[in-house]
Amino acid sequence: MKFSRRAVLQIGGFGVAAMCMLPRVAFAARNALKNVRTGNQPDGKTRLVIETTVKPSYSLTYSPNQLTVGFANTAPNKFLKPNLAKGTLVKSITQTQTGDRIDIIANLNSDIAEIPKSQIMILEPNGDNDYRLVLDFAAGKRSTSKPTNKTSKSSVDTSKKYIVVIDAGHGGKDPGCIGRNGTQEKTIVLSVAKKLKSRLESNGFKTYLTRSDDRYLKLAERAEIAEKRKADLFLSLHANANPKRTMKGFSIYTLSEKASDEEAKKLAESENAADKIGVNGFSDFEPNIRSALSALQQHAVAEMSEEYASGCSRAFVKSNIEQQPGPDVRHAPFAVLRSTVPGALIELGHLSNPDEEKLLQSANHQDKLVESIVKSVKNYNFDV
Ligand SMILES: [Zn+2]
Repeated sequence: MKFSRRAVLQIGGFGVAAMCMLPRVAFAARNALKNVRTGNQPDGKTRLVIETTVKPSYSLTYSPNQLTVGFANTAPNKFLKPNLAKGTLVKSITQTQTGDRIDIIANLNSDIAEIPKSQIMILEPNGDNDYRLVLDFAAGKRSTSKPTNKTSKSSVDTSKKYIVVIDAGHGGKDPGCIGRNGTQEKTIVLSVAKKLKSRLESNGFKTYLTRSDDRYLKLAERAEIAEKRKADLFLSLHANANPKRTMKGFSIYTLSEKASDEEAKKLAESENAADKIGVNGFSDFEPNIRSALSALQQHAVAEMSEEYASGCSRAFVKSNIEQQPGPDVRHAPFAVLRSTVPGALIELGHLSNPDEEKLLQSANHQDKLVESIVKSVKNYNFDV
């Protein structure tokens, strides 16, 4: 790497000698670097935390004994004093600026393997902290000897086929909710799932259905299909029922151990009850796969799910699909979402509402739902 035309700030082990060499910032950077720190993690891992004022868009570049984290449209911090813990892989940190971009270069004791996305997360501001990009890595060999550059993007990388597993809820002896005119949830969601599969395939995604006909599947089996297919995203499709016939609209959920509200709790209980229809009247839940993940991995999966779910909610609203009053994304302990795959449970609408029951049956409305989901998948950032 050559930095001849870049202003180089040497920080950490070498002091902050070159501080005034930073060129004047002639642009209005949207983001600003606040802080860099390192720490030790279990299993000999090093944690690198880079704090910025705005949610960062970043890229990772690997070269021998070096990891470079690039931030677009970001102002450097000339008062930066990285807080480097003893015993990590990071020897020193260098900050360089090129135009409106800065690179944080971590000089390492050894090579590291490409960091899997489950070991990368962006934390929202809390307390004294702004946005934090958190990277956990260990010493190791990269799969390629050439430096690789992995850039985070807000659009889909067409060179890689992302895998989406689509789960049509219920099926077989479990009809799900039933509308006043007899419409069954299992039929509606299977129809939407098949349409969604074909539309996502034509948009370059690889897709699998958990069921392609009217059959009963346990919730854990559905989650397992997502695991086995190594899915990048898991979408569970449902339709809702409410004792209040006037209640309308879609709602979107992600997994959490605690329900966000009483309604979310009841919904999770009724969706989870699908497993109690099992032959023995009782089903032993698979052990919670997610609890086997490290806290960081769980956090990363939760964060990605949340990001997808809020994008999906926006896409529905943009298409003028009626939204159930309440938060854009709700949380509840859904058994079907217990996996290592980011995902969401989408309640497409209320079969208990006579108008929506008709809508959910109509091909036009189903297409509208499908197009909104396709948009949300295309906008989802699979790389972070
Ligand atoms: Zn359902």
